[in-house]
Amino acid sequence: DVIGQVLPDATTTAFEYEDEDGDRITVRSDEEMKAMLSYYYTTVMEQQVNGQLIEPLQIYPRACKPPGKRNIHGLKVNTRAGSANNSSSAVSDSLPSNSLKKSSAELKKILANGQMNEQDIQYRDVLGHGNGGTVYKAYHVPSGKILAVKLIPLDITLELQKQIMSELEILYKCDSSYIIGFYGAFFVENRISLCTEFMDGGSLDVYRKIPEHVLGRIAVAVVKGLTYLWSLKILHRDVKPSNMLVNTRGQVKLCDFGVSTQLVNSIAKTYVGTNAYMAPERISGEQYGIHSDVWSLGISFMELALGRFPYPQIQKNQGSLMPLQLLQCIVDEESPVLPVGEFSEPFVHFITQCMRKQPKERPAPEDLMGHPFIMQYNDGNAEVVSMWVCRMLEERRSHQGPQ
Ligand code: ATP
Ligand code: MG
Repeated sequence: DVIGQVLPDATTTAFEYEDEDGDRITVRSDEEMKAMLSYYYTTVMEQQVNGQLIEPLQIYPRACKPPGKRNIHGLKVNTRAGSANNSSSAVSDSLPSNSLKKSSAELKKILANGQMNEQDIQYRDVLGHGNGGTVYKAYHVPSGKILAVKLIPLDITLELQKQIMSELEILYKCDSSYIIGFYGAFFVENRISLCTEFMDGGSLDVYRKIPEHVLGRIAVAVVKGLTYLWSLKILHRDVKPSNMLVNTRGQVKLCDFGVSTQLVNSIAKTYVGTNAYMAPERISGEQYGIHSDVWSLGISFMELALGRFPYPQIQKNQGSLMPLQLLQCIVDEESPVLPVGEFSEPFVHFITQCMRKQPKERPAPEDLMGHPFIMQYNDGNAEVVSMWVCRMLEERRSHQGPQ
């Protein structure tokens, strides 16, 4: 309606908006509109919580004109509550044009210059506890951005702290839409804080039994994320559902990969146990390589498809660390297989290949990308994941009832 009033003669078949990274996202359908609104309302809620002036969402109509002439009226749609009844007042060009929100690229630059520190962070809710530490939803005051901050208590020397900080440097260079954004890290007394992008859908471990057409799109993102890390000579070392994060925009990103050997070692000294997603060769203490990440990918997706851990004899109660003896069956027994009737043939084959007991028989990075299961879902359709995440969050909220 609003576009029709401002551009009465134009045939508008789509419009665009800018996401937090400054990328233009096209909206062509109601489903894409839903994803846009859920993205926008999250931003609005964050700004409301933080007592900021709520920013209008700017949209750019695509009116079948040459690119230079698009949005010549500088259309801005005010979607503030209450404006919906009066659509003519919803169009306003008196709104502040300077953006209050910093793009995440800009934010990254600011934070990389050492402006990230404890005083600027207000810790809010606890998002979860892991074996190494606790993850908080936090508010970064100078940028007005919501972050996820992982706090890990570590009693280590200043020398080791420095070594960890330098090993983390590579994270600033990681730039992939399939890897969690890194904003910075700092030590305060005996704990390190790792500040990353907040994902409003949380991690996949809490979702249980994900339908194959959604899981396929998630697998594409995870394979692309891993391929990216491997191209930087980084092994993930901790591939599992709780380290795969999703958001209501349908993005899937990997987190908690082992870029800092020193950090991994320091955590391991405090928390003893073996990860249930580890490949057989790793459980037996043999060499670790890309193939071991591929096993963990396979077992994770098998669990996400079944809605339970694939080895019935292994009961994961809290977390994924287990005494080594309990995981011996992964070394000794045949790998489990997905039930063929319940899942498509390419999916069953994909999991079977990733979970070959012999590391060398598992698919290499290029074979993963070229696998029919991955190719089939490599269609860039983020809506499927977005809608599914939104629906699951909605269900979770309605089960929890009013707060
Ligand atoms: P482990 O310590 O064995 O890796 P874990 O992955 O479950 O186990 P953490 O990495 O500490 O533990 O994460 C705890 C929880 O916090 C996760 O399960 C996830 O739900 C949530 N979480 C972590 N990072 C983010 C993030 N960037 N955005 C939103 N939620 C997050
Ligand atoms: Mg984790």
